[in-house]
Amino acid sequence: MKVYLNPGHGDDDPGACGFGRREADDVLKVALDVGPIMRANGLEVAYTRTTNGGTDAHMVNYVPRVNQEGCDFFVSFHRNASGVGASGYETCVYANQGYAKEFADRMNCGMEALGYTNRGTKIRTDLYVLNSTDMPAALIELGFIDNEYDNKLFVDRYDDMINLIARSILETLDVPAGVDTPVPDASPKPLDSGQTYSGEFDPSVQRLQHVLNTGSGAGLLEDGIAGPITYSALQQFTVNDGDDGELIRWVQDRLNILGYEAGDEDGYAGPITMWAIARFQEHCGLGVGYLGGTDWYRMIES
Ligand SMILES: [Zn+2]
Repeated sequence: MKVYLNPGHGDDDPGACGFGRREADDVLKVALDVGPIMRANGLEVAYTRTTNGGTDAHMVNYVPRVNQEGCDFFVSFHRNASGVGASGYETCVYANQGYAKEFADRMNCGMEALGYTNRGTKIRTDLYVLNSTDMPAALIELGFIDNEYDNKLFVDRYDDMINLIARSILETLDVPAGVDTPVPDASPKPLDSGQTYSGEFDPSVQRLQHVLNTGSGAGLLEDGIAGPITYSALQQFTVNDGDDGELIRWVQDRLNILGYEAGDEDGYAGPITMWAIARFQEHCGLGVGYLGGTDWYRMIES
């Protein structure tokens, strides 16, 4: 059995935005976290995109490819926006039957249990990824990105949601499911208080503190020693495909020091830098995606 995971939007299309979040980022992270659970249960997994850039993000490019390759089930990941404060979860299908219906029923019910308003199943014959894919397909709208409550659920119940999506796909395809398959530690998470710090002087850390001070007025002591205050200042930063600036230049330098070959220190997070970030995350057992959260800690302390 093979499933195709399709994080919506990407490249020059951020999708819906709200409260500093971008749909393209949120759904990529979700798809990349669901995939390993599928694989752990013996399912073949393919992605329409695994980064935020490039031509893979465009429907006209990947839909023909998916049809040519074939798969048993196609799931498109999205988040909604209304501009008027709407909230809740919904599943979109071309026709409410077969795998699509089974999956939709499981997801609608499961997301409701996680606290989302259940907006039910919507028949959408107008959506390209539903009307042009040859195999059973469903599109999930993981809450409203411009609704504060839905975003809180998205963050607070994230692991449960990942497990729910994984379990719903597996059960729909009748794959003997590891219902209890733990979510791999896939997502960057905020530091907890149990972190330890080497307390050693590192010229690269000193440079980082300087970048944070000049770039965002972090007010750090530029002592070259990373501690809770430096890490806490870093928590508000992520590095994603297409970002630029002095912090990116520092990340490139750091990755190069660590041997991940991030390319020229040009301050631009292009494909080579994002590739190096992914290799670093993979090597450290962190979730692959944008850089943030615990990634900063491992980047400095490893
Ligand atoms: Zn969307």
